[in-house]
Amino acid sequence: MDANYTKITRPDPSSPSNTYTDCTLLKDVAFCCEQFREFSKKFPSWSYEQGRFTIVDQITYDGQTQIVINYCPFCGKKIKYKEIKSKTRTH
Ligand SMILES: [Zn+2]
Repeated sequence: MDANYTKITRPDPSSPSNTYTDCTLLKDVAFCCEQFREFSKKFPSWSYEQGRFTIVDQITYDGQTQIVINYCPFCGKKIKYKEIKSKTRTH
């Protein structure tokens, strides 16, 4: 399946000299199988920082650690990540 996303650099609201990058998965993503589509609806598995699908590895008091997946956990299809350059810039 193709996971196309756009990268947007935004100013950090808590520190004006910093920016952070948001990777947003395009809405028209065609999931390889119904299970993965349903899973993504129930659990937010897209990482905005990394621009990758992730699954929860460990849950701790501070939050959770996630590991990036390159293959669908349900049907085994390879996930192809591709950054789509967006024309709009927010500044
Ligand atoms: Zn799948």
